[in-house]
Amino acid sequence: GPVLAIESSCDETACAILAPDGTCLAQRLISQDGHADFGGVVPEIAARAHLALLPGLVSQTLKDAAMAPEDIGFIAASTGPGLIGGLIVGTGFAKGLALALNKPFVAVNHVEAHALTARLPGLVPGGAPFPYLLLLVSGGHCQCIAVEGVGQYRKLGGTIDDAAGEAFDKVAKMLGLSWPGGPALEKLARDGNPDAIALPRPLAGRAGCDFSFSGLKTAVSQKLAPYGQTALPYRFAADLAASFQQAVADVVANRIQQAFDMMPEATLLVCAGGVAANTVLRARLEEVAASRGLRFAAPPLKLCTDNAVMVGWAALETCQEAARRGLPPPDDSTTRPRPRWPLEEMTQRFETETQ
Ligand code: ATP
Ligand code: MG
Ligand code: FE
Repeated sequence: GPVLAIESSCDETACAILAPDGTCLAQRLISQDGHADFGGVVPEIAARAHLALLPGLVSQTLKDAAMAPEDIGFIAASTGPGLIGGLIVGTGFAKGLALALNKPFVAVNHVEAHALTARLPGLVPGGAPFPYLLLLVSGGHCQCIAVEGVGQYRKLGGTIDDAAGEAFDKVAKMLGLSWPGGPALEKLARDGNPDAIALPRPLAGRAGCDFSFSGLKTAVSQKLAPYGQTALPYRFAADLAASFQQAVADVVANRIQQAFDMMPEATLLVCAGGVAANTVLRARLEEVAASRGLRFAAPPLKLCTDNAVMVGWAALETCQEAARRGLPPPDDSTTRPRPRWPLEEMTQRFETETQ
């Protein structure tokens, strides 16, 4: 039967119901407000908001799908990685529902859900067959991952300091823009000259495909220092935004070239996460992929940022993979939420006990 999926790992409270073939029957999502005044997600506020929002959201989603709880085949939730308070709320709610309905519960790794989104039927022209290279760029993540199959992920590189979205948000804050800063910075950059201000390209040309953004952030703050508390001239702010954005695109493009070398079997580059919304970065990635004769795909933005559809899809793929391997369907009723949950550990799910 259909899967009912819950997402609560950060500041999005979301529920979705998917048919076994991945068709979305209904979905609801609330991007929590109440964090902007603090300039970032406040974990305690997020957890309380999930608790307040989830019951209504789930019953509304069932109503949208014209379904009774008994019509659901199984329940899934993101159980990590993420903010532990929200994960406890979502996982507890999902497990409670599963118990009450006497249905299986499937734990979903949130990053795996991002990684598999592009495989949702009909989403990406030509589909996303394994293996492909995934660039995950969001507020909390910045990684290159070789996606080789369901449960089979190889991390090729990641950030050694800030995530890309975090860098956008911090630089936007320095420029006096409101949070979340990425979209505001991109808008300001449209009025600027990307070659106006010289900024470093951290790690560019270095072996491997790790990322670093803190040096870039520091360089931006040094350019701003002479202005102290005085208001920034608009032209200068726009030039700095455009130059920063170009530096990020350059760095990411360079790192992706390296990742291609580390994964020569890839024929497709998939970009996911909120920063995938950035049109300058997207255009650059498309260009880099094309120069290598590879396809480039990014799911629509609504599915790039946190949502429950991807959680339901990852749960369906997990069940299908278990069936394909002749394993019993997953039952995670005793799984606990985990703030950290490396993707590499996902292979354990399909390891048969043959000792
Ligand atoms: P995760 O736990 O997956 O990291 P998150 O909520 O932090 O979740 P997302 O919701 O995927 O991340 O993305 C939000 C991030 O994307 C923010 O840092 C935001 O500034 C950034 N972002 C959104 N749009 C743009 C844009 N047009 N340009 C640059 N950055 C953007
Ligand atoms: Mg978010
Ligand atoms: Fe996410």
